[in-house]
Amino acid sequence: MMYDQILVRFGDLTLKGKNQKDFLKALYKLFDVKMEGLKVDVEYRHDRIFIHLNDEDVNKVLERLGYISGISSYSLVVKCTNDLNDIKETSYKLMKDVVSEKETTFKVNTKRCFKDYPLTSVEITKHVSGYVLSNHKLLKVDVHNPEVELNIEVRNDAAYLFNTNIRALGGYPVGTAGKGLLMLSGGIDSPVAGFLAMKQGIEIECIHFESTPLTSIESAQKVVDLVKKMAKYAPQNKINLHMIPFKEIHVALLENVPESYNITIMRRMMYRIATKLAEKKGILCLVNGESVGQVASQTLGSMNTINNVTNYPILRPLCTYDKQDIISISKKIDCYDLSIKPFEDCCTVYVPKAPATHPHINKAELYEKTFDYETMVNWAVDNVNSITISTDSDLELPLLGLEVREVIQELKKR
Ligand code: ATP
Ligand code: MG
Repeated sequence: MMYDQILVRFGDLTLKGKNQKDFLKALYKLFDVKMEGLKVDVEYRHDRIFIHLNDEDVNKVLERLGYISGISSYSLVVKCTNDLNDIKETSYKLMKDVVSEKETTFKVNTKRCFKDYPLTSVEITKHVSGYVLSNHKLLKVDVHNPEVELNIEVRNDAAYLFNTNIRALGGYPVGTAGKGLLMLSGGIDSPVAGFLAMKQGIEIECIHFESTPLTSIESAQKVVDLVKKMAKYAPQNKINLHMIPFKEIHVALLENVPESYNITIMRRMMYRIATKLAEKKGILCLVNGESVGQVASQTLGSMNTINNVTNYPILRPLCTYDKQDIISISKKIDCYDLSIKPFEDCCTVYVPKAPATHPHINKAELYEKTFDYETMVNWAVDNVNSITISTDSDLELPLLGLEVREVIQELKKR
């Protein structure tokens, strides 16, 4: 392949003034972090970024680009001078590289960003397509439905030639929108919700409610492994994970609350704890993987009763997503195989036979009066076990039979 650079576009910035400056600063920083260890050079301009490949494996670079939010598209490009003869010759060589086997239709598109250039874009297109056609026997022009396009961008200092325009992650650079606390279970949905939040510019920390040894330590390991996958999209390739000791509350619910309200009240406890932790950390919203109608606790009636314990904003990136769409994103971010590992978590152990689909707020409040949940909620927040997981973290929780809190404290002593 002839390409020696990647041209990265971040689209029309609808952001203005200081926001735009912050956006660019965050984006440049993301590039620095994500391209680390590759032998590329990144050239920052106010309206685009060029990655000089320096013979680096292009697939490796493209993989890293896939972890950067806030870019709209990119193209593999060849750079030459803006001299017409050089553009003609380079165009011919590029087309020879791209089309070498069968007869192919093509079209030239020219964009002239250098307004004092002696030729118009239509003239450049004519010169180049004439030259390429007369030298390349397999090419034919088709301006309406070409199989290959040759795009030429003529700028003040150079010309750039490329064939494809590939859609990138889009959204905003992660971090520019502030922070959210992701409620992360071991399932399919919540990592996808976390990814979508990051893509929209929200840096995440994760909160997980763990009930070891009622639930297996493998289910907590799964969460650690999922955070590691998500860290590829994070600003510094790492994410804070807050493990909340939830066993005591879990047991209290099983002992005191009618079975049909168990999940409703469990989720009200989760919202209370997550809100308190977010407030403590100065995090401005909660994010979760709820999707309307998916399970009993996600009917609008349930969501109303559960949401009633907090006035924090709760983002539900998946609320209107169909499961198949969620699964395809889960596969794309490489979380699916982990998510479907069959370890139970606190929502899947002791599943009530007939959970309330329209729980009443009054009843939920009444059942909550049967035990001193406020003390338990505060204790859980105060006894959180926080760890930072990075893309190269090798944290293993091997001590079967122990509780997660003991394992983490043990690991921290080392
Ligand atoms: P997922 O596939 O992510 O597990 P789900 O469809 O199984 O979601 P629920 O178990 O009802 O749905 O949970 C809904 C959301 O509540 C999850 O997406 C997640 O954001 C949050 N949640 C559930 N269990 C936990 C947990 N143990 N710790 C933290 N958050 C949780
Ligand atoms: Mg779940």
